[in-house]
Amino acid sequence: MAERKDGRTLLPNGAGADYDLIIVGGGLAGSSLAIALAGRGARVLIVEQQDEFRDRIRGEVLMPWGSLEAQRLGIYALLLGSCATEAAYYSRFRDGSLQAVRDLIATTPSRTCCMTFPHPQMQTVLLKHAENLGTEVKRGSVASAVTFGDVPRVHIGSDAKGLSARLVVLADGKDSRLRSLLGFEVRHDPEQLITAGMILEGDVDCSEFLASNAPPRANTINLFYDPRGGRMAIAMKIAPGRNRIYLIHHKDVLPKRLSGRHSVEEMIRQLHATGAPGHWFDRARQAGPFASFDGSHRWVDRPCRDGVVLVGDTAAATDPAWGRGLSRTLRDVRLLRDRLLENPDWRSAAEAYAGDHDDFYGCMRRLEAMETALLFERGEAADRRRQHAFALFARDPTRVPDVVGLGPEAPSDDLARARYFGEI
Ligand SMILES: Cc1cc2nc3c(=O)[nH]c(=O)nc-3n(C[C@H](O)[C@H](O)[C@H](O)COP(=O)(O)OP(=O)(O)OC[C@H]3O[C@@H](n4cnc5c(N)ncnc54)[C@H](O)[C@@H]3O)c2cc1C
Repeated sequence: MAERKDGRTLLPNGAGADYDLIIVGGGLAGSSLAIALAGRGARVLIVEQQDEFRDRIRGEVLMPWGSLEAQRLGIYALLLGSCATEAAYYSRFRDGSLQAVRDLIATTPSRTCCMTFPHPQMQTVLLKHAENLGTEVKRGSVASAVTFGDVPRVHIGSDAKGLSARLVVLADGKDSRLRSLLGFEVRHDPEQLITAGMILEGDVDCSEFLASNAPPRANTINLFYDPRGGRMAIAMKIAPGRNRIYLIHHKDVLPKRLSGRHSVEEMIRQLHATGAPGHWFDRARQAGPFASFDGSHRWVDRPCRDGVVLVGDTAAATDPAWGRGLSRTLRDVRLLRDRLLENPDWRSAAEAYAGDHDDFYGCMRRLEAMETALLFERGEAADRRRQHAFALFARDPTRVPDVVGLGPEAPSDDLARARYFGEI
């Protein structure tokens, strides 16, 4: 890499291209990639269709291994100083009883904790920061087509000529239309878990400690699991007086998906049944959109071809039930950034990233398949297997892969699987 006169590192430019990088989508993936490459001499354009970000019921808790990725990408302090709150504990309840309160900073390998934020604010802060660092941003602009090639092009709206780049990054989310138009094959697992998300607004704090020996002024993520009911709730404060609460359930336990105002009462009944405390619902009201989502994994193998590379949910989506999409997205961005910075041949760099991505995403898919099968499968045999495994976990907690702390590095091989299911 050459050094410019102003001391910044200069990435070799694509001959005659309008930009080094055009990123479609200014969400977490797109903005954090632009921030991570800022100051390296690359000309970066982000195309974002929304004029203003709004609540679409998306990720609002970053796991400890995702917090580490945020630190590596230089966005952790920015988020904490603007729209985010740390949750240093993780409390798990089962059948209404407290199972464990985990001190994340003391017990995770990276000594990091969870971070929560309202998703639209997080997006606004990051996109603005990318712009302040020199990224060109076209907001309210829809990328309508992308073409492969030595110098790939992005077309905005009805513009026929398009803009060229050395590399085009698709960061346009789980339902990417461009990914399909380009012919990337999207694979998916069968539907198993459904995630319903709502906001509770008012005089409640869903990051409160429900255990009696609460550490002063610390926040916790609260998780309530009801094995027999095939459901789970995860709750957290995302801003003062504003809380996100998710109900996760097996697709067969409710006759229909909960969504819209007329389902709020049933949602509260279900949340209550997981063990979530009643006073939350007495003192707060549902606000904003309320909907359910199919959580099955959806992914592209080797998410890179001929000058176009996929990151974040466009490359692969994990199950929102487990709250790892933001962390996975930041892992993608960090891996791509590292490859782009180490290799001036961006085609090879993007290929190498695709391999890195497949490796770690494969681990995540295996881990989540294990968790879904053990914790949510229905029927008597599944109930017996769970009872057996839970008894073993009580004696030896290391049987449970530490996905909260380690993310994809948590063991997911055959041995780990056999230990988790109590087969050995
Ligand atoms: C119900 C639910 C709950 C979740 N909860 C969690 C959680 O608690 N923790 C967690 O870690 N993850 C969670 N996730 C996952 C997390 O939200 C995603 O993994 C993450 O937001 C992905 O970020 P992204 O930038 O890849 O995509 P997105 O956030 O979808 O961003 C894509 C951007 O591209 C823009 N765009 C799309 N098409 C175009 C176009 N043609 N032209 C221009 N712009 C375009 C969009 O406007 C958007 O801003 C949840 C997901 C769901 C559905």
